[in-house]
Amino acid sequence: MTDANAAPDAAPQQDRQSSDFSSTDGEIIVFRSSDGVLFNIHRRNLQSVTSGPFAEDFDAPAGEIVPLTEDKDTLRTLFAFVYPNPHPLLCDTSFEKLMQVAEAGEKYKVAPAISVCQLNMRLSMLYKKHPLEIIQFADRHGYTELLDLSAPYTLELKLRMRDARRILSLPVFAAWAEYCQARRDILSLETYNKRMCAVHSNGLLCLSWHSVVYMVEERWTERGMSSSEDVDYIFRADGLPDCRALSYYNGATNSRHTYCQDQLEEWKGAVKERFLAMHPLSTYLTCPA
Ligand SMILES: [Zn+2]
Repeated sequence: MTDANAAPDAAPQQDRQSSDFSSTDGEIIVFRSSDGVLFNIHRRNLQSVTSGPFAEDFDAPAGEIVPLTEDKDTLRTLFAFVYPNPHPLLCDTSFEKLMQVAEAGEKYKVAPAISVCQLNMRLSMLYKKHPLEIIQFADRHGYTELLDLSAPYTLELKLRMRDARRILSLPVFAAWAEYCQARRDILSLETYNKRMCAVHSNGLLCLSWHSVVYMVEERWTERGMSSSEDVDYIFRADGLPDCRALSYYNGATNSRHTYCQDQLEEWKGAVKERFLAMHPLSTYLTCPA
């Protein structure tokens, strides 16, 4: 028994011709997007601008269509880069669309598209807003500098491990987890003595220090530590508890420094020194031990 309310099988979708790429002059190769739009592209342009499969001398007899897996929007943008018209700048393109063009540019080796996509990732600071996705893209295509540029910004996000695991490949995820742990250790294990010692250099137990540590760590959790400026922000004395016990910092008898501030400065100095000496993420990929 059939369901009378069931919709009949949809008719096969008819291909449509792209109005921007419809020339029939010269040697043309016709590509079909995944959503049924045809693009007529001149072979000589593909061979002069690209260096991947489009540039090969593949057979495309008249009347045959080459199916591609990219959708019409991606191909319209991509093919604009193989003609000598002003190229798309992609400034107002969404991140998802930009990454689709970037992937297609890499797949078919369309050099101008690769350059414009990379410029947008850097100048629009997409590596700060979408660091995990950029890391995965950079790793997939061998852009080590872009990978290392993005990595510190994963520490700003309150990322859950499972989110990173979902986006990153297993080797990159493993390297990233080790990289994150190394950064966390800077604030805790590697500067343990300066952080945990509640007895200042005057020999007296400070009742404020543990609150100072708590608030510094709260700032770190909130902001992350992706730059030297972040270290300055996390360790700024404003707003922190203070034991008010004046010290004579560097022998200056008129100093208003307190012992808490002195210890905070020492802890910050140790953290910054280790932070600046940190290895980039790519190091963990190539030398996991
Ligand atoms: Zn103190």
